[in-house]
Amino acid sequence: MKIEKLLIANRGEIALRIHRAAHEMGIRTVAVHSTADADAMHVRLADEAICIGPPPAGESYLNIPNIISAAEISHADAIHPGYGFLSENAQFAEIVESHNIIFVGPKPEHIRTMGDKVEAKRTAGKLGLPLVPGSDGAITGIESAKIIAEKIGYPVIIKAASGGGGRGMKVVPDADSLESLMGQAKSEAKAAFGDDTVYMEKYLGNPRHIEFQIFGDGEGNAIHLGERDCSLQRRHQKVLEEAPSPVITHAQRDEMGMICAKAMAEMGYRGAGTIEFLYENGEFYFIEMNTRLQVEHPVTEAITGLDLVREQIKIAEGNPLTLRQQDVQFRGHAIECRINAEDPRTFAPSPGLVKSFHAPGGMHVRVDSGLYAGYKVPPYYDSMIAKLIVYGTTRQGALRRLRRALEEFVIEGMKTTIPLHQALLDDPEFQSGDYTIKWLEEWLARQDEG
Ligand code: ADP
Repeated sequence: MKIEKLLIANRGEIALRIHRAAHEMGIRTVAVHSTADADAMHVRLADEAICIGPPPAGESYLNIPNIISAAEISHADAIHPGYGFLSENAQFAEIVESHNIIFVGPKPEHIRTMGDKVEAKRTAGKLGLPLVPGSDGAITGIESAKIIAEKIGYPVIIKAASGGGGRGMKVVPDADSLESLMGQAKSEAKAAFGDDTVYMEKYLGNPRHIEFQIFGDGEGNAIHLGERDCSLQRRHQKVLEEAPSPVITHAQRDEMGMICAKAMAEMGYRGAGTIEFLYENGEFYFIEMNTRLQVEHPVTEAITGLDLVREQIKIAEGNPLTLRQQDVQFRGHAIECRINAEDPRTFAPSPGLVKSFHAPGGMHVRVDSGLYAGYKVPPYYDSMIAKLIVYGTTRQGALRRLRRALEEFVIEGMKTTIPLHQALLDDPEFQSGDYTIKWLEEWLARQDEG
């Protein structure tokens, strides 16, 4: 069924991103917003806008009854959830579908399975994806935890089954600290996610984070769009992403990509998804799957020339995959910087009034942002205010273009992480692509000493 009107259940740059793809496809858009976002760019650009509640996300962007009402009032025939908020809420997807509205996303049962990280690992294992050694399912008592930890060897990591956003993880160095750290992990998981189920994995010493973008049509066909390297992290949160990974060969990409695509085909997966791995000593280890569009999807768009949101919408309309695996070509290199309204040294949030704004431009430079001069960044939501994505035919070319684009970028009125990205670009190890998930935190610690 052709979608005529799409409600975008999100805010910020991703709401704009979805609006743009929709308008290029001749689809009208409905923005929803909290009272704090009445002046936001996504509200200004959409064809219609509906206020769904007060500033706290729980009362607006997570308010399912109000979002469904907004879709009904505006006669939207589809809802795109973006990332974050309700994007991985299986119940939301079910409610949307029960109102005869198209959910631009996977089947609810797949969201549910992959949202529970214990279930996700079990499913991934059955589908033939390589796993991080660890507990077979949730860990219950301290005695069984001890036995499993001895078997896989310390250090181990305790992770929350309902975890996300890098929260609810504890690294356990030795048997002596297992009991107390497991207790902490459980109570933190309970507080953050309302579920104290935890599981255990071998803690890999120095891996990279490499993830594969996949697409399925829900009918047993699936393809992969290569990998993204998201190893540059702070507190398990991504800071900068690139595609392709500086350390993956064509053969590895083809092999792992095909394993992922085959797994998704077998599952009957529908829409866009990302399969995340840790990568160490030439081996991939599945950690989780995200059943949604990712923040870093533009680097894949840059090297494949594909519009991922357009593909999502076409699949949601019930079309078969337009692409065959052999049609997907990878060209050049792309890098994305997440620019946050934060102090670049302390990372303290710095929302406020945008006094002036000038986005870089020129060849192969893309800025996804809802900022404009005079806009007030509200303090209630995520601190990411812009994404800068550059493309080059080589990694070195992309790095040079990134440096030039960051020099042009002007955001006045608040502290941003632009200076952090500039300093990173000056680092020879970063330039050589020789970094793992621990590298940035160590680098930051060195900056603080210096
Ligand atoms: P979340 O859902 O909270 O993002 P993930 O399971 O995706 O959690 O892990 C996030 C990050 O935590 C990874 O990118 C990696 O940096 C670190 N991490 C997770 N599991 C392990 C592990 N077994 N060994 C080492 N680091 C890990």
